[in-house]
Amino acid sequence: MDKKIFLCSICNINSGTCNEDCKFCSQSVRYKADIERFKQKPIDKIISEAKMARKTGALGFCLVTSDKGLTEKTLSFVCDVAKVLQKETPELRLIACNGTASLEQLLTLKEAGVKAYNHNLETSKEFYHNICTTHSWDERYETCQNVNKAGMVLISGGIFGLGETQEDRVSMLNSLKELNPTSVPINFYHHNDALELKPNPLTTDEGLELIKLTREVLSDAQRIMVAGGRELMFGDRQNEIFNYGANSIIVGNYLTTSGRVVSKDLEMLESLNLEVAKKV
Ligand code: SF4
Repeated sequence: MDKKIFLCSICNINSGTCNEDCKFCSQSVRYKADIERFKQKPIDKIISEAKMARKTGALGFCLVTSDKGLTEKTLSFVCDVAKVLQKETPELRLIACNGTASLEQLLTLKEAGVKAYNHNLETSKEFYHNICTTHSWDERYETCQNVNKAGMVLISGGIFGLGETQEDRVSMLNSLKELNPTSVPINFYHHNDALELKPNPLTTDEGLELIKLTREVLSDAQRIMVAGGRELMFGDRQNEIFNYGANSIIVGNYLTTSGRVVSKDLEMLESLNLEVAKKV
């Protein structure tokens, strides 16, 4: 495993407009969570966020939309943004995370310069109906297969702490292994009072063990990325995640919650003698 740490930054190019009912997600309009909602981020704001991400050492820049999947309008906007960013920030690897997508849509994104696609399985096939009833786990799995068919880099992981059993976690990781993702983002559920789902019951030690388990099961993955919920789950023990197999983190803010300032993450890596990856 590459011990250089890959930093990734995410940019929500629309937010909080989704009609789906994923019970962990404050972006669903059903739960009326107190978050910022907008239909389309202005392109110059996206460019300045991309430049800032690069300045802080991020190599990955992910264009995220809330909504179940790509509409023609979203697809065309993401492609326009991708073309501009290739000129403005050519060093960044462009990733898109736009929900379920057909092979044809993915090929269009690829053509526009998007190198990787992130689509998480979220949880096990068996547990999925407990956290979402408006679309199926199979659709998610199929989108990941489409990413592979399109010859794009697959980024796929899930969320822990939703009330799933250890069996569910192993099942999700085994499903991910079948898909052979390059990078596996693991998120830890971050409770919002508007959501009915109970707060994440995992202890810090259990969270660390789940990183280790992910690393063990997905032994071929280039990167295990600790994504949303890192600060909440690990607090002042965030430095330990790298001993358990993580070699990638999201820096800056998440989609609807704030991350800690990037300088703190860079200081942490320096104190651990861990180098920031400079190329993909
Ligand atoms: S489909 Fe995505 S944005 Fe919509 S509610 Fe589910 S997780 Fe949230």
